[in-house]
Amino acid sequence: MKKKFIIDNGCKLCDACYWACPQKAIYVENDQCHIDQEKCINCGICYQNCANEAISIYEIKK
Ligand code: SF4
Ligand code: SF4
Repeated sequence: MKKKFIIDNGCKLCDACYWACPQKAIYVENDQCHIDQEKCINCGICYQNCANEAISIYEIKK
């Protein structure tokens, strides 16, 4: 099962995930961070670095 990481509206714009992401896949829009799924390699580093539990993991079939 493939994982997908999504930032929800609990984001406090602390930028921890932005600096931690090895792919530079995180960008800011509408006062919160988002993950560019085209760049994301699903490594989970952003998830581990978010102190606000604003990043969720979804499992997708394929
Ligand atoms: S680490 Fe969490 S709270 Fe901080 S900018 Fe990223 S998603 Fe938002
Ligand atoms: S899962 Fe990894 S590659 Fe994807 S946004 Fe988070 S830190 Fe970046």
